[in-house]
This record gives sequence, C-alpha cells and structure tokens, in this order.
Amino acid sequence: MDKITIKGLEVYAYHGVFPEEKREGQKFYINANLYCDLSKPAATDHLEDSTHYGLVCEQITKSMTATSYDLIEKAAGTVAKDILLHFPLVKGVEIEVQKPEAPIGLPFETVSVTLEKGWHRVYVAFGSNLGEREKLIQEALDEIKAQDFVRDMVSSSFVISKPYGGVEQGDFVNGVCGFDTFLTPWELLEFLQSLEQKAHRERLIHWGPRTLDLDILFYEDLILDSPNLVIPHKDMKNRDFVLTPLKEIAPFFRHPITRKTVEEMETELVHRNTQEGTYIYGTV
Ligand code: ADP
Ligand code: MG
Repeated sequence: MDKITIKGLEVYAYHGVFPEEKREGQKFYINANLYCDLSKPAATDHLEDSTHYGLVCEQITKSMTATSYDLIEKAAGTVAKDILLHFPLVKGVEIEVQKPEAPIGLPFETVSVTLEKGWHRVYVAFGSNLGEREKLIQEALDEIKAQDFVRDMVSSSFVISKPYGGVEQGDFVNGVCGFDTFLTPWELLEFLQSLEQKAHRERLIHWGPRTLDLDILFYEDLILDSPNLVIPHKDMKNRDFVLTPLKEIAPFFRHPITRKTVEEMETELVHRNTQEGTYIYGTV
C-alpha cells in the first residue's frame, strides 16, 4: 500500500519508569509510516486529497508530551491511536518510538518499540430473546457507535427467529452490524462482552436465556482459531438469521476460507431451508 513516511522526529518528553525520567525528561525520536491511498493526490496535486505530514508531526509531538507514561509501548500506542483518530485518510500506521538516552548504564545506540494499528472492517451479529429485546439491542448499537474506536457503522434491519439449537425458549430478535475499528480481535471481543454484561446485569433477577448476544462474524479477512475466539464465526453458514441480515449490508463480502460471498452463502442456505422449513419468520 502507498505510504507517507516521517523519520526521526525529535520530541522532548517525560516517559520512563524512573522518577528522574518523569522529572527531567529526555529526547525521543519517532519514525512513522502512514498507510493511505495516495493515487488521488498523485493525480490532483491537492493537499486536501492527502494527509498533511506537518500536521501529523504536530499531532505526534502533542501525543508524546500530553501525558508521561512508564512505557514507550504506551506512548507509541497513544501516538498511533491519535493519528488514526485525527487523520481519516490514514488506514493504518506503524510507529517506532526510540529512546536513545534510556538509563541503561551500558553503551548502546538506541532502544525502541515499534507497533502497528489500523482500521479494520468487522461484522458483528446481535441477538436477544429476553426482556425488551429491541431496546436492549438498540442500546448496544448506540453504545458501539459512540466509541472513538468505531467509525462508518451500518446496521441491518431486525429479524425475528425461532430459537436455534433445540432449547425451549422465546423467539429471538436478530440482526447484524458492520463497522471499522482499530481494536484488535481480542479487544473487540472484550468490548462486546462488556456490553453483554451490561445488558445482563440490568436483568439479574430474570436471568434467562439471552438478554444480549454479540458475536464477531468477520474481522476483515482474518482467520483465527484460538480457544476463546474463532473468526470467521464457525456456524455462520447454517444461520439464516445471520446471513439474511448480513446480505442486506455486505452482500459481496467474501468468506476468507470458503471464498463464498455472503450472498452466495445465503442463497445456498435459504435453498436448503426451504426444503426443511425456514427459521426466520418475521421482521421487526
Ligand atoms: P454463543 O454465542 O456461541 O451462543 P456465548 O455468547 O455464551 O455463546 O459465547 C461463548 C464464548 O464463545 C465466548 O466466551 C467467546 O470466548 C467464544 N467465542 C468464540 N468465537 C467467538 C466469536 N467469533 N464471537 C464471539 N464469541 C466467540
Ligand atoms: Mg456469543
């Protein structure tokens, strides 16, 4: 991908574990790669079609000096996040923070950390079959949308579906939303679980099947198999209450393993279900 590079920006700041580092400060050098599509400014010659690297340097200096952290990891993470938040054309950043005067007590040239952060398109399924279902879902969607690490959010319409998996319980309201986020997959899971817990806590007495369920369907084209997180979501191809709403907002999104589009997966499933009796039986 195209990129804009900043090398060796010097910033005097106060990061370090030792009190004298926080008191007296020292020099840091920042290298940054800003990944963005430069085809438009390359054609138009207009600054507004690109990212102003002077302003980025100012932002880096501000982010490096606003707070003093123990770790340059935290400083680099803050710089990366602030660039993504303030420069919308930047899709991803790689930030290196060097600390050449670190109090190591041995001869060395420099020490540094490098980290990457970027916007990733994700799709999340939601479902509720307890309490004020639409309200619980809407509150969660509003909260997702309000986060600074979320942008360009879209939501499908809600569908009503029969409980899936054979347990005797009430009907579900389901749907799917999509948004860009710079959270990692695990951070996203943790955030969604915090929203589930919020919804559960309010209805502690009536603890029941599902006040709110939020599942990560896709995280861009990432394939991840870990004990507590599997992406793409395992059972997606069998759930019309996921695929039908997903088709509404992302018909041409391709499953990274099967290479089928959402539209193709949905058509296959609806075809299968027509022979067996479909799960979705209404819209909200
Ligand atoms: P389910 O959604 O399967 O009906 P839960 O909502 O109780 O059940 O989730 C159980 C666990 O599934 C979560 O604690 C989480 O660690 C794990 N999990 C694995 N993959 C995903 C995913 N893609 N999205 C959300 N949770 C997931
Ligand atoms: Mg879940």
